[in-house]
Amino acid sequence: MTVLSKGFGKVEGDHRVMNSEVSEPGYVSLRSVSKTFGDVHAVVDLDFDIASGEFFSMLGPSGSGKTTVLRMIAGFESVTTGTVSIDGEDITSLAPFDRTVNTVFQDYALFPHMTIQDNVEYGLRTRKVAKPERARQASEAIERVQLSHVADRLPHQLSGGQRQRIALARALVLRPKVLLLDEPLGALDKQLREEMQAELKTIQREAGITFVFVTHDQEEAMRMSDRIAVFNSGRIEQLGTPHEVYENPSTAFVAGFLGVSNLLEGASAQALVGRTGLVNIRPERIRLHGPGHKPDKDSSSVSGAVIEVAYTGANTIVVIRTETGARLISTSLNEELPGHKDTFAVGDKVVATWRDIHVATIPQ
Ligand code: ATP
Repeated sequence: MTVLSKGFGKVEGDHRVMNSEVSEPGYVSLRSVSKTFGDVHAVVDLDFDIASGEFFSMLGPSGSGKTTVLRMIAGFESVTTGTVSIDGEDITSLAPFDRTVNTVFQDYALFPHMTIQDNVEYGLRTRKVAKPERARQASEAIERVQLSHVADRLPHQLSGGQRQRIALARALVLRPKVLLLDEPLGALDKQLREEMQAELKTIQREAGITFVFVTHDQEEAMRMSDRIAVFNSGRIEQLGTPHEVYENPSTAFVAGFLGVSNLLEGASAQALVGRTGLVNIRPERIRLHGPGHKPDKDSSSVSGAVIEVAYTGANTIVVIRTETGARLISTSLNEELPGHKDTFAVGDKVVATWRDIHVATIPQ
């Protein structure tokens, strides 16, 4: 299903928001939005703003409410309470086709019997745009996703990645103010997915359209987004730039969902960092050395033994059990070949060090 848009979002300069403070009214604003399905509280009292031209991601595990929020912005789902507005206009009760948004789905939703060119022209045709003009605009959109050479083919004659790019062209040609993307890269293999992430980001920047992107893949969200809303059980646990949510997670859930964490609390935290609250040290900030190593100024250390080593190509992951009983994960770049004197094996005695400023306190 495609939602048709009304007009082109006005884009003046770079309106992307690079931190979590939105000073002007949001381009997309949700106020006290909740959604219940029978007994299920799918979305609970959400309030947030998405700025014009922003690449905004909703990230979270399955069932956390991301898709429901996207569908409420699109108008496919009604809100139980609250309001949704775009560019200052309350659209809560508008039908999907009356909203200035467009949606790209994971399953592409292309018409199988129409050529690529006709698929991309379709929305313009329903808007009664004259043939020469719609052919020109469609060709331009197809060129933007670099697929002019397949414009005469049918969808089944394209690869998955190409079909996804056409689905994007079909949405872009309608020049929506806001493009909603529901796990659009979910069906692609890892390599193609990474290529498409870079392309999507470039297309978004060039077109200056606000993207609202749903994913459960934290690397994907980090790579593309200006800001990320991390969802858990129908609520936003944290909203911030990729840096903010990774470096200063506000809850243990966010720390655990975005990358690998060494979460310590109580006696474990007291023994290692000298305080009992919940703290986190990212594995890439923990360095391992041979026995007897003394930490630098402003760093701390603990002795331990290696209990697990995993080689993953670019990185090696080493897990140690510290003499204080904690389990710490350390990751390092494989700058040397395996077997180099700096590599560790299970059973090795080690000293783990970290800089004190790399200990992040998680509010409780
Ligand atoms: P996924 O990544 O698996 O798509 P999600 O984070 O997008 O998950 P939603 O699809 O928004 O999550 O679902 C949130 C909650 O609402 C879930 O518990 C889901 O089962 C429930 N839900 C969603 N749609 C409906 C529906 N039409 N009827 C009943 N319950 C629903």
